[in-house]
Amino acid sequence: MATRVSTATNALSPELQHERIFRVMVESVRDYAIFLLDPTGVVASWNPGAQRLKQYTADEIIGQHFSVFYPEKEIANRKPDYELKVAAQVGRFEDENWRIRKDGSRFWANVVITRITDERGKLLGFGKITRDLTERRAAEQRYRLLVDSVRDYSLFSLDANGYVTSWNSGAQRIKGYTAEEIIGQHFSKFYTPEDAEAGMPERVLKTARETGHFEGEGWRVRKDGTRFWSSIVVTPILDEEGRLAGFSKVTRDITDRKKLMDELQRHTAELEVQVAERERTNAELEAFSYSVSHDLRAPLRAIEGFASALQEDYGANLDPGAHDYLQQIMKASARMNRLVRDLLEYGRLARIELSSQRIPVQPLVQKLIEENFSGQDIAVEADASLVVFGHEPTLAQILVNLISNGVKFQKPGVAPQVRITATSQFGHSVKISVTDNGIGIQAHHLARLFKVFERLHGIEEYPGTGIGLAIVKRGSERMGGRCGVESKPGEGSTFWVELPQAN
Ligand code: ADP
Repeated sequence: MATRVSTATNALSPELQHERIFRVMVESVRDYAIFLLDPTGVVASWNPGAQRLKQYTADEIIGQHFSVFYPEKEIANRKPDYELKVAAQVGRFEDENWRIRKDGSRFWANVVITRITDERGKLLGFGKITRDLTERRAAEQRYRLLVDSVRDYSLFSLDANGYVTSWNSGAQRIKGYTAEEIIGQHFSKFYTPEDAEAGMPERVLKTARETGHFEGEGWRVRKDGTRFWSSIVVTPILDEEGRLAGFSKVTRDITDRKKLMDELQRHTAELEVQVAERERTNAELEAFSYSVSHDLRAPLRAIEGFASALQEDYGANLDPGAHDYLQQIMKASARMNRLVRDLLEYGRLARIELSSQRIPVQPLVQKLIEENFSGQDIAVEADASLVVFGHEPTLAQILVNLISNGVKFQKPGVAPQVRITATSQFGHSVKISVTDNGIGIQAHHLARLFKVFERLHGIEEYPGTGIGLAIVKRGSERMGGRCGVESKPGEGSTFWVELPQAN
């Protein structure tokens, strides 16, 4: 509120002029109760702020003793007299406490009582300034309650040197100390002796001071000596002038999480060992099967060669029984030959370098059909411009395997129909699908078909080695792609490979 002093004031002596100005000022203050007491504590003046705060008008209160503003208990304890006595002796008394309004309601007041004396030091009375801090106190209390209701976090503050200055219930729960036990103690108490020795607490405060923040995890010690793994955030608290006033510290007990992480890490390490072990065994097994297949070829050739020689040279002399046996030997060795050939191919796919080149899809598919499936009902629907990155002989082998299966796994008496499509997948890859009208596959078998020797049918029903799809999988993965299948029993199947698109 603007304070106006009438020009008439100018006619007064400087002293009176000052007094007048001062009175106008006091009169204009509304947020503070400012009034005078005589030496015995009787109210002698009253400003609008006092009326607003305490509800008495000047007429009502002037002449009354100021103890009417005190709660009964304080009056019984002679608090008003005590306050005046202290102010009279030391010049000033300050207090924060409950005071009473005219209607009996309470407010939280900050009170300053100042002694007033004449030039010779004789007590003339007291000046009293009262401020209503009820709202601030409520806000502080709400904040304190909030901090205290947090039970999962330990929230506390330190002074600038690291001594504990406040403590919430979460801190008590996590660390085991009550506020009375810990306030005033140095926070290095929470560290393990090793960390304390190594200067960790000082480093934490230094980092927080210098960078405005410290965050970390580590072992801390509870009152009972047990340890817990904690996550910590320390923030410096600065006063209005930017000087360090202390630190706030938030700690969380994450021992359970740490245990879980450790367990996970242990598990992962174990798994890695197992995987490495398996990879080694697989590689050994593969090398073994490769060399066995390789070594089997020579005796196999001998069996096949001698069986044909027997047939050619002595066939005419053999009775039908011996003839039949010979046929069985030749059939079995041919089958074994196919198996060895496929196994060698499968093994070779793991070890050879597959150089990548651009392969236009449609021309390759057309060529494969002409060379291997002439006369079959095979339709191709592929954009002529689609080009993939891959190893051409491997892709050719994959497609031949898939088309052969599409033609082979057919219901008796039904003419095979195969459709090959190629579509771009968002410009990143090309999906080549081979769809047939064959017998289809039950859903629960789908996952295992791509493994070596997995077959769903007897040799008599549908011939094969059970290696074709394993080659499809290994080949497509080695070219940086993938493969899959969708099928319904009785309704045909779609096998697909997806390879990187070359633009
Ligand atoms: P093979 O064809 O030599 O038996 P594959 O590895 O190519 O071996 O296929 C494995 C098995 O998957 C086959 O034995 C068959 O049971 C099933 N299968 C593969 N392709 C088809 C298809 N198009 N339709 C139905 N079943 C199929």
